[in-house]
Amino acid sequence: TNDNKSISKKKVVAVVGGGLVGALNACYFAKRGFQVEVFESREDIRQAKIVKGRSINLALSHRGRQALKQVGMEDTIVSKGIPMHSRMIHSLNGTQSPIPYGKKGQYILSVDRANLNKELLSAAETYPNTNLNFAHKLLDWSTETGAMTFVRAEGAKEEIQADLIVGCDGAFSAIRKQFLRQSRFNYSQTYIPHGYLELTMPPINGEFAMKPNYLHIWPRNTFMMIALPNLDKTFTCTLFMPFEEFEKVTTGDQVIKFFQKYFPDAIPLIGAEALKRDYFHLPAQAMVSVKCSPYHFGDKCVLMGDAAHAVVPFYGQGMNAGFEDCLVFNEIMDQLNEDFSAVLPEYTRVRVPDDHAIADLAMYNYVEMRAHVNSKWFLFRKYVDNFLHIIMPRTIIPLYTMVTFTRTRYHKAVKRWHWQDKVINQGLLFCAAVTVASGSYLLVRYPPNMPNIPTEQLWSRLQALKSPF
Ligand code: FAD
Repeated sequence: TNDNKSISKKKVVAVVGGGLVGALNACYFAKRGFQVEVFESREDIRQAKIVKGRSINLALSHRGRQALKQVGMEDTIVSKGIPMHSRMIHSLNGTQSPIPYGKKGQYILSVDRANLNKELLSAAETYPNTNLNFAHKLLDWSTETGAMTFVRAEGAKEEIQADLIVGCDGAFSAIRKQFLRQSRFNYSQTYIPHGYLELTMPPINGEFAMKPNYLHIWPRNTFMMIALPNLDKTFTCTLFMPFEEFEKVTTGDQVIKFFQKYFPDAIPLIGAEALKRDYFHLPAQAMVSVKCSPYHFGDKCVLMGDAAHAVVPFYGQGMNAGFEDCLVFNEIMDQLNEDFSAVLPEYTRVRVPDDHAIADLAMYNYVEMRAHVNSKWFLFRKYVDNFLHIIMPRTIIPLYTMVTFTRTRYHKAVKRWHWQDKVINQGLLFCAAVTVASGSYLLVRYPPNMPNIPTEQLWSRLQALKSPF
């Protein structure tokens, strides 16, 4: 009722973590009229010179865009993004071949992480009912009283109460620590054997060093490098490789040798000297996958973004899923009239299967991006899937399309993918069988006028027919 609503409007929502998901969430709660307090451990990144953070740029797609749209931020962010219509596969011999992401007009956007975070913080600040509290690091909170303890930059402690705590404090969430102590809380965390390292590819004569509207990929089985374009005409290259391999490369010359072997076309573009230097600039970073459930504690606390589900970055969905969390929570707030005691369990019920599905898919793609984009069967199936999607757009939808260009629930996308895969493989098998059968029939019915060729000669002719594909 309206009365209930006006009471709940006075409630205080503490958003812990002012990263991408926290800053967006602040906008959502502020828009609903709550008193929003954001607590972020870092200083204000809008004033700080160097921003410590993970990847420099990210791929923004449909889910993230829809979530931004709901708080009026889509256009601002999209206008500063660079569309990427296709992957560009760099093979070892330097040839480049594009593989489109979807249908014509479908693309993902390369956006600057720091700028996105800054814009979202500024957007949150435009609401008079929002305060941004920087240099507030959450130490702990009490599940009994809901009181949060923060440590300030100078070491002083501060205790703060709120009606709802929204944990958006990333993969190593301090809010989540209290969940771990609860009975029936499921939790798993997996580090993959790979680490990542970022390198910059500068512009050449003021222009992008490679075609800008692509996500460039150098798949090399166990290694992989990708590059996303930035507005300043640089590319940020990310090298993914097992830690074991990173440890083998210890000198500048070894870096060059390694690149000559696996990514020769990238050496002149990054620059040999820069490569030797920047490779050792920062140590390779680890990647973790975190799954847990439930996402809420009573009517007091809820986890969103990486705090609830850190995923490996190989589907480009971590942030998109985190943004969608905010959108889904908002939809449930509408349905259940902002009653936290009903909204929080419903959010867990709806969201856990989806976030677990994207965590699994990202892990699956970890294998696919490195190995399968090299395989002919994978490419063939991609073309078959895309072709079938064009002629039967409602029946066959490629998995990547469902994940990246729709809001089909992640777990439903996975189910549908398994079903489609079965149908398409059976269809292909059927076509192959029909071709073989009709070919044999025609051969028997209308035997060709075969010249009398000795068996040995016939064999060498057949060998010559073997084309690469
Ligand atoms: P974070 O961005 O980690 O923000 C958490 C915030 O909480 C930080 O500001 C931190 O300072 C603050 N904080 C932490 N602890 C505390 C505390 N105790 N008290 C107060 N504040 C605290 N996703 C995509 O969608 N597309 C991509 O292309 C993509 N590429 C990626 C590439 C790499 C290499 C990596 C590692 C990730 C990538 N991701 C991508 C995933 C994406 O980065 C994350 O999903 C996203 O940053 C999650 O946002 P978040 O706000 O939940 O967490």
